[in-house]
Amino acid sequence: MHELVTLSHNLPETARAPLTGVTGNGPRIFIQTYGCQMNVSDSQTIESMLGEAGYRFCDSPDSADVVLVNTCMIRETAEVRALGQLANLSSLKKQNPSMVIGILGCVAQAKRKEVLESHPYVDLVVGPDSYRRLPILLEERFISPPGTPGLLETTLLREELYDDILPRHHGGVTAFVTIIRGCDKFCSFCVVPRTRGRERSRPLPSILREVEHLVAQGVRDVMLLGQNVDSYRWEDRDFADCLLAVADIAGVSRVRYMTSHPSDISEKLLRTMGDHEKICPYLHLPVQSGNNRVLKEMNRPYTRERYSEIIELARRIMPDLALSTDVIVGFPTESDDEFMDTFRLMEEVRYDTAFMFKYSERPLTKAAARLVDDVPEDVKVERLQRLITLQQSIARERNEAQLGKQTSVLIEGAAPKDRNMWAGRTPDFRPVVLPMNGESVGDLVQVQLAALSGFTFHGARLS
Ligand code: SAM
Ligand code: SF4
Repeated sequence: MHELVTLSHNLPETARAPLTGVTGNGPRIFIQTYGCQMNVSDSQTIESMLGEAGYRFCDSPDSADVVLVNTCMIRETAEVRALGQLANLSSLKKQNPSMVIGILGCVAQAKRKEVLESHPYVDLVVGPDSYRRLPILLEERFISPPGTPGLLETTLLREELYDDILPRHHGGVTAFVTIIRGCDKFCSFCVVPRTRGRERSRPLPSILREVEHLVAQGVRDVMLLGQNVDSYRWEDRDFADCLLAVADIAGVSRVRYMTSHPSDISEKLLRTMGDHEKICPYLHLPVQSGNNRVLKEMNRPYTRERYSEIIELARRIMPDLALSTDVIVGFPTESDDEFMDTFRLMEEVRYDTAFMFKYSERPLTKAAARLVDDVPEDVKVERLQRLITLQQSIARERNEAQLGKQTSVLIEGAAPKDRNMWAGRTPDFRPVVLPMNGESVGDLVQVQLAALSGFTFHGARLS
């Protein structure tokens, strides 16, 4: 079952589009990226390092000398998909035994030895803090005699921020910029703190340098990334200061971010968002559950009441705010009544978008160690379906309520279904198409939201 309703900036666990381009004369490399925006951003950092080392990028594993699979293991389905791709590569390697296959990312970090044992044709297993070693590891691998066991590099390094590397931008007006790595929250269901290590913030000057570099390449819309951006600290600057500094860069039209945590989000941040036109009125605030006992079991240190207060304050400061969330159903011991608390919270809050997941037991987590995954699969599926149905109708109603509104659209490119129309987004991230009229990609156009088909608006240009 598809677990996402109303596709938004939160990219699902699907493979990213491969990179095409030539930056050197060396071996051809193909990088396949699974998972969240952090993985996409990491792959761009790797591309930058390997491009400098002379690698050429290709758009298919068939023509590659090196294939790297950047993996996600947030849920079992994500892990299975990434390992399935590795298995597909084994037949390519049979045809081309000199091909180097590497596994990167969270599965590499958490399942290092198991991966090498179960996939003996894998040449490299490299965790998220060891990408700097990739050029050397690849060189070493190229000269290793056939049959040499795969190389393993999975040390978690508290100081690694890759902040001196400008990730390779793939074009377009939107870019991700990582500002904080790792996570110290240890939600009981989540494997991320085990695979990405301790939380550390990137120095503000290096973030600003990267954004300026992106603006010079045509980027207008910057999404600041971190597992918990509200924890950002550099010297005496907090996340609101960082957001503001990025918004102040000439050429930046919009700044967005994800993800916030309800325990750490501050009134200062909400007021900063409300005060600045360039900071998008969009807040992704994962609630996970609407029941206080379940939240406690999840090690989410806020209550449903506190969460609702934050939403109320945010909407008071920004009446036009679009809200999204993440929700897990079927967490161990969740009863029908407790699930209904989540259902009712979603009815009350009325999110614009929600990312809803069935609980998936993950190795190395507290929930896996202490609790039995006791909610039957059919009950999880039913709860998920109920939430999806509810959220679809709320999202539709919230979109319909936008009709007639005057707003700006940032033009991202030609609409895929009609090359005579532009496709873009409103500041609260709703997709809009509008007729071309001499504008360019990256321009901001004032429109009235005139009609809606599915989840896409038709914009009528305002003079
Ligand atoms: N750091 C972010 C936060 O706390 O909101 C999100 C990180 S995680 C990549 C994205 C979402 O995956 C989480 O918010 C949660 O809803 C979901 N998730 C994490 N672990 C999960 C699990 N074991 N089973 C199901 N969903 C999970
Ligand atoms: Fe995982 Fe919780 Fe950290 Fe988000 S805040 S990455 S859900 S541990």
